[in-house]
Amino acid sequence: MNCPRCGKVAHPSGKKWKFSGFDVEQQKCTGCSKTFSAYYKDGKLRHTVPKAKK
Ligand SMILES: [Zn+2]
Repeated sequence: MNCPRCGKVAHPSGKKWKFSGFDVEQQKCTGCSKTFSAYYKDGKLRHTVPKAKK
């Protein structure tokens, strides 16, 4: 997965939780060292928080 802030590769930090029907997985970026949350539903990535820049 790519970081929504800088576009570099991010990896799961190991932290997971559930939120409103989503499986949320915290990701840590190898570029900016910041974390973000990936929201999955039915095993598919739906969105990230923050959202990726367009
Ligand atoms: Zn980043």
